[in-house]
Amino acid sequence: MTEKFDVIVIGSGPAGYVAAIRCGQLGLKTACVEKGELGGTCLNIGCIPSKALLHSSDLYYQLEHHFPDHGVQAGHIAFDFDKMMNRKKEVVKGFTQGVGALFQKNKVVHLKGTGILKSPTIVSVNGTDFEASSIILATGSEPIRLPFLPIDEKRIVTSTGALALESIPQKMIVVGAGAIGVELGSVYSRLGSNVTFVEFLPKICPTMDEVISKNLQQILEKQGMTFHLNSKVVAADGTRLTVEKEGQKMEMEANVVLCSIGRRPYTTGLGLENVGITPNEKGFIPINGRFQTKIPNIFAIGDIIDGPMLAHKAFEEGVAVAELIAGGSPIIEYMAIPNVVYTNPEVAAVGLTEAEAKAMGLNVKTGSFPFKINSRAKCTGETEGMVKIVADGITDRILGVHILGAHASEIIAEGVVAIEKKMTSLELGNAPHAHPTFSEAVKEAALAVHGRPIHR
Ligand SMILES: Cc1cc2nc3c(=O)[nH]c(=O)nc-3n(C[C@H](O)[C@H](O)[C@H](O)COP(=O)(O)OP(=O)(O)OC[C@H]3O[C@@H](n4cnc5c(N)ncnc54)[C@H](O)[C@@H]3O)c2cc1C
Repeated sequence: MTEKFDVIVIGSGPAGYVAAIRCGQLGLKTACVEKGELGGTCLNIGCIPSKALLHSSDLYYQLEHHFPDHGVQAGHIAFDFDKMMNRKKEVVKGFTQGVGALFQKNKVVHLKGTGILKSPTIVSVNGTDFEASSIILATGSEPIRLPFLPIDEKRIVTSTGALALESIPQKMIVVGAGAIGVELGSVYSRLGSNVTFVEFLPKICPTMDEVISKNLQQILEKQGMTFHLNSKVVAADGTRLTVEKEGQKMEMEANVVLCSIGRRPYTTGLGLENVGITPNEKGFIPINGRFQTKIPNIFAIGDIIDGPMLAHKAFEEGVAVAELIAGGSPIIEYMAIPNVVYTNPEVAAVGLTEAEAKAMGLNVKTGSFPFKINSRAKCTGETEGMVKIVADGITDRILGVHILGAHASEIIAEGVVAIEKKMTSLELGNAPHAHPTFSEAVKEAALAVHGRPIHR
């Protein structure tokens, strides 16, 4: 007899595992199908391993370049790359085991294998059929490849291979200077690689505020990385690339080429054709405002639907879809989804950039405050960067918060709450902030929208 569930989730990344846990919490009999390791891209080959390596490599870089400024001297400075990689593996293992434990706690059944849709209510896993009243598709995304750059994950790698290299390449070319590219490029640059970026667009991290993107590029250049903007890889012979820049062709060679030109939705082998769901031209699964595909009891969330490919966006959708299925009416404030790049210094943003707000025809006011005159930043020596706030010129409502600076990934939470709660820049500027802290720069930037920062 076919085992029956209220909900079957296909995929256990941030979208799927959170949806499954929330369904379990809401009393729904739930199974989650996963063909790989629990935790998806984020835990296994994305957010977590990259942040572990970013931190390890940053400690080494700080020890070499910044500790002496504080009068702290070390003898012979060295790093053990195998140990760094093993530590990363242990961090990942802890989290994937944690998802298994959370499944048990919330009575979610983990079905190991590939989930294939056979009908709107039947999912087949390793040849066994399971029935569900609702099915949630959360099969995530995969790296986009270039046809002439065959990936072997050793010399020509995606982010997955870059997170598992066996040694530090002397030279690395990173094709694509988006968030993943600049993060992984930073890791290897700090550990001694000569890193060159080839970016098709005129700026790095294209969704970033113009000024912040330019400042970040200058800072990364100071750290030793090289950028070729408005440049396109047009051919490759192994790791030797032909790059076209402003009508000129040039050759570049490296020990490792990282192809990080973006990600696309992953639905291979899912059996969408069996239920009549057709992805759009970009591969995303079309949904309505309630995450329903054209089959009302089949839902889709996370990287396989349109929107920023971010783990915390996937988390929010996982919770929301579970609550919808259980009869609730959750709302996600997409404008309040932050975006972070974990370089040093970090970049974090939420809401609209100045250019986006102007393009929407809004009357825009901005205020900014540099970390070089922030008291805490001066104490720690982390004075690069700034906070910029974009507000509506008529209502004063905060439209965007953009931070380039140390701990930006943590400070941005204040901007998220401000946007979620529809605060004005004056309300944010009048809120007390502890002294001395980096977050005081947010208060000062908010006051600067009104031309009245105190410390500038
Ligand atoms: C290097 C890197 C760094 C990143 N850093 C960050 C970051 O710092 N912050 C951030 O917010 N985001 C980051 N991301 C993006 C983030 O990882 C993704 O947005 C997030 O993982 C998407 O979650 P998801 O659940 O939609 O899909 P995924 O995490 O991709 O999970 C999908 C899961 O579905 C499984 N699956 C697929 N098809 C089937 C099937 N038919 N049957 C069974 N299982 C199936 C897959 O094996 C996978 O486990 C990063 C990504 C990368 C690559």
